[in-house]
Amino acid sequence: MRVAVFSTKSYDRQFLTAANDGRHTLTFLEPRLTRETLSLATGHDAVCLFVNDEGSAENLTKLHELGVRLIALRSAGFNHVDLATAEELGMTVARVPAYSPYSVAEHTVALMLTLNRKIHRAHNRVREANFSLDGLLGFDMRGRTIGVIGTGKIGRCTLDILQGFGCTLLAYDPFPNDDVTASYVDLPTLFAESDIITLHCPLTPDTFHLINSDSVAQMKKGVMIINTSRGALVETQAVIDGLKERRIGYLGLDVYEEEADLFFENLSDYIIQDDQFMRLTTFPNVIITGHQAFFTEEALRAIAETTVDNITQFEDGEVTDSNRVTAAQHRR
Ligand code: NAD
Repeated sequence: MRVAVFSTKSYDRQFLTAANDGRHTLTFLEPRLTRETLSLATGHDAVCLFVNDEGSAENLTKLHELGVRLIALRSAGFNHVDLATAEELGMTVARVPAYSPYSVAEHTVALMLTLNRKIHRAHNRVREANFSLDGLLGFDMRGRTIGVIGTGKIGRCTLDILQGFGCTLLAYDPFPNDDVTASYVDLPTLFAESDIITLHCPLTPDTFHLINSDSVAQMKKGVMIINTSRGALVETQAVIDGLKERRIGYLGLDVYEEEADLFFENLSDYIIQDDQFMRLTTFPNVIITGHQAFFTEEALRAIAETTVDNITQFEDGEVTDSNRVTAAQHRR
């Protein structure tokens, strides 16, 4: 198969080349897939996409005209692909449903602990020989109530880690899992009782702006909110308002609604035009990482291996059901 790999970084090239072992012809392309760049897929049977590539109806239709039949995602999330259009066009969409849920769960807990114990501020102080502890007061995790929204693979790993801290664990998921150790509650209860709320559900029409001014108003004063899932689960202005009113005490983000124009690039010589993003970076109780929760050796190796496997399966006939994404799944 001839595969156009969009949004390639050096680490994608390294892990995909190793996993491919010469099987398919991979063309590594640095640009993101957009309307302007999609012609780079000319002459390829498949495109390989990451989270900020634009699999819109219009782009898929044009890719189909170019002869592309497979969309091989290097991600678990598939909210950036118009699945109904893919289905209409007869294009297969494959993803990597599980690579390392531990990578994202561990990063989630890293954000919680950094915010709680103010490690980011302590690090800067010590480098300037400021050993004052004023303003660095944290809290014991033990005994705190943590609400996990979405108890799939990553949510469950996060719960497992948090259990070790001795936290009280609440969960919400419209499709509960029997082997979850947390108590399932409805969303209003989770919002009202949690000291920390962490999001591990996919971005769907149901979860878009799940964190908004109404839901923030239902939360405990001083709540910590963590989002390592998808940016658009959080309405940015609502959390800025919540932080200014001190209703939100801590915010940890690995994803951001408008991240496509920012993340994965070195923009340190540019003037960032996104005023909401820049406002978020000014709060002492906000930590943002640039969509790096997945970024471990184990995860990159697994992503590359499953991606190559999906391409091979497509070439040999059909991608296995567990890795194929359908419009029906998106509606779920
Ligand atoms: P998963 O499919 O195993 O689990 C998702 C869970 O969310 C399921 O149990 C599902 O029932 C539940 N869910 C669906 N609709 C919901 C709703 N309305 N409210 C609450 N829960 C709902 O997925 P996963 O592997 O655990 O990944 C979760 C999300 O994490 C992905 O969708 C992706 O967006 C994100 N992710 C982020 C990174 C990163 O690097 N930051 C990496 C991988 C995945």
